Amino acid sequence: MIILVLNSGSSSVKYRLFEMGGERCLAWGGVERIGARGAILNHQRYDGHKVKLAGEIVDHQAAIEYILAILLSKNHGVIGERSEIKAVGHRVVHGGEKFTGSVLIDTEVMTQLHDCIELAPLHNPHNIKGITACRALLPDAPQVAVFDTAFHQQMPDYAYLYGLPYILYKRYGVRRYGFHGTSHRYVSDRAARLMERPIEELKLITCHLGNGCSIAAVKGGVSVDTSMGFTPTEGLLMGTRTGDLDPAALLYIMSREEIGIGEANSLINKHSGLQGISGVSNDMREIEAEAAAGNARAELALSVFCYRVKKYIGAYAAAMGGIDGVVFTGGIGENSSEVRHRTIDGLQFLGLELDPEANRSNDTGERFIDRGGPARVMVIPTNEELVIARDTVGLVNH
Ligand code: ADP
Repeated sequence: MIILVLNSGSSSVKYRLFEMGGERCLAWGGVERIGARGAILNHQRYDGHKVKLAGEIVDHQAAIEYILAILLSKNHGVIGERSEIKAVGHRVVHGGEKFTGSVLIDTEVMTQLHDCIELAPLHNPHNIKGITACRALLPDAPQVAVFDTAFHQQMPDYAYLYGLPYILYKRYGVRRYGFHGTSHRYVSDRAARLMERPIEELKLITCHLGNGCSIAAVKGGVSVDTSMGFTPTEGLLMGTRTGDLDPAALLYIMSREEIGIGEANSLINKHSGLQGISGVSNDMREIEAEAAAGNARAELALSVFCYRVKKYIGAYAAAMGGIDGVVFTGGIGENSSEVRHRTIDGLQFLGLELDPEANRSNDTGERFIDRGGPARVMVIPTNEELVIARDTVGLVNH
């Protein structure tokens, strides 16, 4: 069964086409700069053939039409007819409290997706545009929504409530939702397989460290706490986001700098994190290189980043009453031995100890990087698109 997976952002649409018989990715790529002059389509085929095309792409529907055209094209394509695409899986950022798992999209679900827009005004409208376009372009293919928040929906109330008046939770749904759920679900499941133990008996901590970073406590296969909150700004330090911050500090800065909501939003989401502390870059590779070359602020940014992850690991070990394994994933988690070393160093009291050689080796793929102590440390490359494709097949076949 051929499944198209789409991730529609504000000015981009990323895609992956899977043949689910052997869970093989046939083609992948994305359109960038939708609506701007000179949109670009990057497309890659399973056999290594690559192409980059430029053109005018006015909206998401045009972008998806372009993607379908390249998937069908003689020179670059992988399928002969649109009808070979049996279903489409869409990444949807926010499912609120309504969606605790993936769903087949019908008219009622579309209405509910619109209801979630106010919780994620920067993301959900674009996800919905992708869905609407696909319903028009592939009317016979069922559409499935897979939510970043769904995996965290079983968190207990004492983990998701903020210390605000309860009425504000009831009135506006202000609570912790958590994001990157598809990734935390995938890597915790893979970790259990790697450990050759049933997930039901495991206490795992999954660290998704990419441009956005979050960490989750996964007990018995259920996310019982996670660091991102009402929005993806909370928790760990990120490329350009603050992570945890005293809300009163932001009010103080707004008053002293005489800035409004828009600028404050931009301050905490676009100019903070690794970039804000280092003044060098939001990119961990550059931070590491500068820190190694003696740049004190880059070193400080790296230290704050790793200390925050370490602190959350301690907190989540406490939340779960123990720990059987820590998983690193995402661009930083999968590639930075330095971040992994600084994070795990000193956590021997939790049973965590890295094998320096395994940690620093250039191996790729799923692997242990510890000394085989009571709690394991693993690197597991994430694969959110595959989860979306699997959920899509599951719902369509059901
Ligand atoms: P996104 O969250 O946008 O999917 P990624 O998961 O690709 O992003 O992660 C991007 C981050 O991973 C960047 O900070 C990048 O510097 C970092 N990264 C990628 N490769 C390495 C590496 N070899 N060493 C350190 N950091 C890396």
